[in-house]
Order: sequence, then structure tokens, then C-alpha cells
Amino acid sequence: MNRQEPGAMSVELSDGRVLHMSTTRPKPSASARITLLETITRRLFDDCPICGDPATNEEHVPPAAMGGEKMTRTCAACNHRLGSHVEADLTDWYDNLITLLRFTGPGIQGARRTARIPLMWTPEDGFALLLSGNIDPAIEEMLRSGEIELAGLLPDENRYRLALLKHSYLAVCLQFGILEGADSDHVRRDLIAARDAAGRMNVPHSPLAMGLTVIRHNGATALASAPLVRAIVHLGEEPIEGVLLAGRVFVSWSSTFNPDQGPDQNRHLQVSMQVGKPISGTVTSVDP
Ligand SMILES: [Zn+2]
Repeated sequence: MNRQEPGAMSVELSDGRVLHMSTTRPKPSASARITLLETITRRLFDDCPICGDPATNEEHVPPAAMGGEKMTRTCAACNHRLGSHVEADLTDWYDNLITLLRFTGPGIQGARRTARIPLMWTPEDGFALLLSGNIDPAIEEMLRSGEIELAGLLPDENRYRLALLKHSYLAVCLQFGILEGADSDHVRRDLIAARDAAGRMNVPHSPLAMGLTVIRHNGATALASAPLVRAIVHLGEEPIEGVLLAGRVFVSWSSTFNPDQGPDQNRHLQVSMQVGKPISGTVTSVDP
């Protein structure tokens, strides 16, 4: 798991200007007031809280890549298979990563690819792509040519929300025990369907996951240091109860279930960029 991408950095340009950039967008889309209630602690069950098989595997809640800790145990299938089907999209979403990037530009035959790269924002709401490591020289040539087409894939919303459903559900179980009832049965059914899909591209659409209230905190520091904190968000008239994952992502415990609400299908990022004259700079600060 690569967690070396910085959360924020400053680059001093050769003309003396300093460019600040951050993985968090400067203007939060909604302002919500959050009340932190209590830290949720580790709790073990004999049976997997998701499917009821013997709980054999240590489970990080939220995923380790988000800073989660071993909080409970699940069965091997709910740990590995469900995780591999939905959690990569969650950590890509959490890290603002664009995957399957393709660059095309004048004078270069065909498209050139890079590994996943983080999208960073400047205070003026411009964006910066953080290219690091071994970059195809043709991409550097395209950047110098001044005009490039960039295509990439954003994380799948249905899958990253199913991962959020898994981790908020596990947080509920840690707090209150494994719940009985139709609502909890529905959550478990959707999680097991995602787990048992033929592959991650076959994970079924979950209106339940799509109906969760998800609010991401984009501030410079996390709201809590504990990985799991029970919290209430005041967004509209009704307070919404849920869990704050990794001090940054609030997920409601109930879903405004809407079978017609589809995931955002437009995962394809396609931009034309006019690149100015390259300016070299020195990185002056990096925050994790
Ligand atoms: Zn299980």
C-alpha cells in the first residue's frame, strides 16, 4: 500500500512565486456542523458481523490505507474478497487519485499512460497533477509542447460507497452489537452480494449505499485522531447520526434508500490542457 503521496505541498518557482497545493479543494461544497460523541473501541465477535461465518481475520476499520486500525474480526471472505472488490475505489477516492491516465498530444504517436496520480488543488481552485517517479519522456515532451489531452478514470461511486457501507456497518456493530431487523438484513445482503460478485467490475448497484449521507472534511487537520468516532452531523433540520472515519469522512448510519438513484456514471475524466511555459521550482514543504 503506497501512502507516500503528500496531503499538501508548496513549490517555490524560479521567479520567486510560491505555489501552494493541497489534495483538499479550497471551497467545501457544503458546510455541516459536526458533534463528536464518543470514540468507538475494539470489539470481537465469535461470528463475522457481515455473514455469520466464524470470524477468523483481523479487520481494519476503516481500511488500513485510510489510517484504520484492527478493530474487530470478520471471516476471510468478507475481509479479503469484499475488500478487494470495493476498497480500492474507497482509498482512491480518499486520496483523490485518478487512475488509468492517458496523455495524448500533438507530435506524439498514440497515447501514453502513467500510474495513478493524485489531483491537487491550488487556493484559486485550479488543479495540479502531481507527476512523480519515472514518467514516460513522451509525456514530458507533450507537456512542453503546450497542448495535451488527458483522460482518466475517477473512482467508482457505487463501489466506494459500498466500502463506506461496510465500514460504517462494522462501526455500528462495534458500538451496539450485531443488530437484528430488516434494515440490518438489507445492509448485510448488499455487502454479501458485493462480496460474491464475479469480480469488482460485476459488483451490483446498491441503492442503499448510494443513499448514505457522506460528508468529507477537507480541512488541513483531521477532526479526530481516533479512527472511529460516533458523531452527529447537523446539515438540514434533522440531525444525522453516524460515524466519522479516520477523522475525515462522516457516514450516516441510515440510508435514504432510493431504488432509482443510480451512481454517477460519468467516471471518465477528459480534459484538454493548455500548458504554459514550464517553470522549474523547488519543493519547500510537504505535509503528510
Ligand atoms: Zn463474513
